[in-house]
Amino acid sequence: MRKIEIITGTVLQWMMYYLLAIILAALLSGCAPSHALYQYSSLSALLEGVYDGQMTIGELKRHGDMGLGTFNGLDGEMIMDDGVVYQITGNGAVHSVDDSVLTPFADVVFFKPVTAFTVEKEISCSELEKEILKTVPSLNIFYAVKIEGMFKRIKARAVRAQHKPYPRLVDAAKDQGVFDFSDVGGIVSGFYFPETFGGLSVGGFHMHFLSDDRKAGGHVMSCHISHAKVSLDYLTDFSLELPTSGGIYEKAIGTVRKQEVDTIEKGR
Ligand SMILES: [Zn+2]
Repeated sequence: MRKIEIITGTVLQWMMYYLLAIILAALLSGCAPSHALYQYSSLSALLEGVYDGQMTIGELKRHGDMGLGTFNGLDGEMIMDDGVVYQITGNGAVHSVDDSVLTPFADVVFFKPVTAFTVEKEISCSELEKEILKTVPSLNIFYAVKIEGMFKRIKARAVRAQHKPYPRLVDAAKDQGVFDFSDVGGIVSGFYFPETFGGLSVGGFHMHFLSDDRKAGGHVMSCHISHAKVSLDYLTDFSLELPTSGGIYEKAIGTVRKQEVDTIEKGR
């Protein structure tokens, strides 16, 4: 009887060790840390002209310190950097934004880079994006990306404030401001979304620009890097909040047309 108890105790002990070893192995095997991406509303709603939300910038800051989006009435591009929100209006003016201002669409994260590397050679942002995707553990999770450095060229755009009845985004974007910057220091930051989530946000990379002097910026259409530091955060947790009233309850939100998104986001 006593012998059986001893054997049972030993087996239990070994099972415990085995379980601990499995947990430790999982922790050390490079599992993507669970950082959370927070999104307000969806790209598909924005595409259909849902340009008013109930989310204040103050509330948005409770969900992240880095990110991008737009403002109610589609009044320019938003970039959030180190917890400060900037607005780039359709005429290219940049200013910081009060907590009371409203947004109809935003993606934010508390940015905690998992990896970083430097780029010493000149490279286009689209080439860099391909390089980034070779380094990541999977193309099927989200990433927050921050590129800090010198840019040889940046082509950026900013949408203009719209008036009701709101046009669809593809029509609103026909009259956007387009800016060409050269030899400028700053940050290009944003997110990678797997294409499969394309209706939620822009599939692939969606990046916004802000110059070091905070006088230039916009939604990045293309860019060319002189040298830069690239930081990446792996995001496996996604939180979505939808508007509680407004256009999302009045319009038919259809399926996202990839060609339309490419035209709007990349100018292709
Ligand atoms: Zn954008």
